[in-house]
Amino acid sequence: MKVAENLELIEKNIEEACRKSGRNRDEITIVAVTKQVSAERAKEAMKSGLLHLGENRDEGLNEKWEVLGDEPIWHFIGSLQTRKVKNIIEKVDYIHSLDRSSLAKEIDKRAGKPINCFVQVNTSGEESKHGLAPEETLDFIKQLDKFKNINIIGLMTMAPNSTGEKVIRKCFSDLKGLQLKVKELDLEYAPCTELSMGMSNDYGIAIEEGATYIRIGTSLVGAAENELEV
Ligand SMILES: *Cc1c(COP(=O)(O)O)cnc(C)c1O
Repeated sequence: MKVAENLELIEKNIEEACRKSGRNRDEITIVAVTKQVSAERAKEAMKSGLLHLGENRDEGLNEKWEVLGDEPIWHFIGSLQTRKVKNIIEKVDYIHSLDRSSLAKEIDKRAGKPINCFVQVNTSGEESKHGLAPEETLDFIKQLDKFKNINIIGLMTMAPNSTGEKVIRKCFSDLKGLQLKVKELDLEYAPCTELSMGMSNDYGIAIEEGATYIRIGTSLVGAAENELEV
């Protein structure tokens, strides 16, 4: 499938979720997750009007950067090893996976300008998922004031993939609740107005619960094995 065709369907679903929840389409940004596809396919996504691209590994980001440069708005969405910060920091506009002080310290040290960061929260409590426990999140953010290059624009979470809608919805509504609490702290470096949540299987629910950035890979640009069908 062409990216443009997939996007058309996704746009319909986004509009439906917006209608259900009384939201405006323009509050929501699609991050096209290109981690499984080629730079060519990423280029096609950009031609379809998708300017925000997401990668979860430093190698993947750098490979695509060779071809696309700084034309896309780059999002780093995967768990980030501290020693790899230097490989991506000059290329990314957003980091979705801030989850520890040592990482904040390294980003702050290496960045030449404030970086938009989402604090990743493990709302599902699944051991396999990265992120802070919800109850740790406020204290974590409060101690980031010493880092001048860290700008906390919001929170990020991943819902469990093989479970019912109710559980998924609760992960997202919990994140929204937490976001409002951070916002109430009224910290200059943590406006925390954004919510990065929702992937191919659950972006509709995420939008209904307040997502402002949805990260879509498989249903938009495809997965590694079906790229040949393009
Ligand atoms: C891969 C990935 C996505 C996209 O997942 P799809 O199910 O392919 O849409 C979103 N967020 C993160 C953090 C990912 O690693």
